[in-house]
Amino acid sequence: MNISLDEEKLRQIVRGVIRQMDGTSPSSAASPQKAAVAPATARPTSEKGIFSDVKSAVAAAYDGYKQLCKGGFEARKAVVDIVKSMTVANAREWGTFEYNETKIGKLEHKIGKLEIVKLVPGVEWIKPDAYSGDHGIMLEEYTPYGVIGAITPVTHSIPTIAGNIINMVAAGNAVVFNPHPGGVKSAVMAISAYNAEIEKRLGIRNLICCMGNPTLESFDGICKSDLVSVMCITGGPAVVRAAMLSGKKSICAGPGNPPVIVDDTVDLGKAAADIIAGGCFDNNLLCIGEKEIFVLESVADAFMRALDSHGAVKIGGSALDRLTDAVFSKKDGHYVLKRDLVGKDPGVLAQAAGVSIPDSAPMLYALTDAGHPFVVEEQMMPMIPVVAVKNFDEAVDAAMKAEHNYKHSAIIHSLDVSRMTQMARALNTTLFVKNGPSTCGLGLGGEGYLSYSIATATGEGISNPKTFTRRRRCVMVDNLNIF
Ligand code: NAD
Repeated sequence: MNISLDEEKLRQIVRGVIRQMDGTSPSSAASPQKAAVAPATARPTSEKGIFSDVKSAVAAAYDGYKQLCKGGFEARKAVVDIVKSMTVANAREWGTFEYNETKIGKLEHKIGKLEIVKLVPGVEWIKPDAYSGDHGIMLEEYTPYGVIGAITPVTHSIPTIAGNIINMVAAGNAVVFNPHPGGVKSAVMAISAYNAEIEKRLGIRNLICCMGNPTLESFDGICKSDLVSVMCITGGPAVVRAAMLSGKKSICAGPGNPPVIVDDTVDLGKAAADIIAGGCFDNNLLCIGEKEIFVLESVADAFMRALDSHGAVKIGGSALDRLTDAVFSKKDGHYVLKRDLVGKDPGVLAQAAGVSIPDSAPMLYALTDAGHPFVVEEQMMPMIPVVAVKNFDEAVDAAMKAEHNYKHSAIIHSLDVSRMTQMARALNTTLFVKNGPSTCGLGLGGEGYLSYSIATATGEGISNPKTFTRRRRCVMVDNLNIF
């Protein structure tokens, strides 16, 4: 096994994913937009749009919304351009800042996630639907809600904020963020910088507001504010539950635990490479990332050899027990994920397991049963359990259980279309990727567009500007039939 070659292969896959996203190299991709809007400095001299109490934040955002209304589509488009070009231009500096603050994931991928923000759809998506007929004309327009309250995760602080702003402002809204406390410094830095540039270029103040000290109380205050029309939640089960109980309309991009099925019809080497590319991206922090693998037992050994040949390292026995104890605690008969090892490098996980692995190893894996905590819990780290199953029906049943009806994401490696259909029907997930890395589901090497908020729990799907609009109908009758 040639470890360094395999490491290079993995790098190529990751670079390829980023390149395929826009057909350019990450570094060269920034230049056209740089020309349109000059990059701002990463850290503004003073904080802009950052508040310590909810009332002021929401009132300021409402005022920002009114200013945006006056500016019309032109102002929306200008804000989108500012956010995209600043995020790309500052990707390295901001990605490094977020990496240093959160201490999770991979630096290269933190930067990559910011470089691709330009792929998030903007104002071009807001087009009315029109009918014209014997009875006159009808126009259905996608209009703003006003102020949106947004909750963001620690796993992708600035990318989620940037993506949300692009979608929400393209739709004509202002926003108040209550970011995860673990990523709040990154949030404050980027939001201050965006606001400074928006004010400088457009004269609009406080379009994007943010709690400087986000808490559960500030979340509650935003939910309860009459000036906030809708919440957008990107996070785990607790915050989704809290939002749904709040009584405020909520668009919920909730947790996932995406299963992968590998059957006996595919090139196992490609399946292994795809799973590593998707599941190891940013140390498996992506909610869409491959979290557990169900492989038909007839090809299980060959599949694990394929994982080995791509540099993955198998652990088992007492090493797996040690890692399991380090990653999970038990409460009331349930496993609970401890946060310490979330998003850490494979080497750190190996250390906790008491084994040493080459620096180049992209991930650990272990042969487990379907009830193992690494299968059941959304572990968000590059240690992916492999479960050998007798047949395809058993694979689908186990995948359904592992997915917990989150309706988030699932992946299959198979050339059998009826098996794809069987899995699609059974799991009913928002994203279903066939024969590629999970990242293909967000337009990264697959067709489609990018978003960091996938509204799974409430069903809006991969968010886009229309997700953040109210649909209104305008009808004109009378003697309008000119044909
Ligand atoms: P998290 O749930 O710990 O935190 C998310 C946000 O919710 C944070 O701002 C946090 O402060 C807040 N929060 C947590 N509990 C709360 C409560 N009871 N009341 C009010 N606010 C609360 O999640 P995280 O670790 O930051 O992110 C990872 C989770 O987010 C995973 O479950 C992942 O699948 C999910 N996620 C989903 C998507 C998606 O698009 N569907 C995208 C990214 C992450």
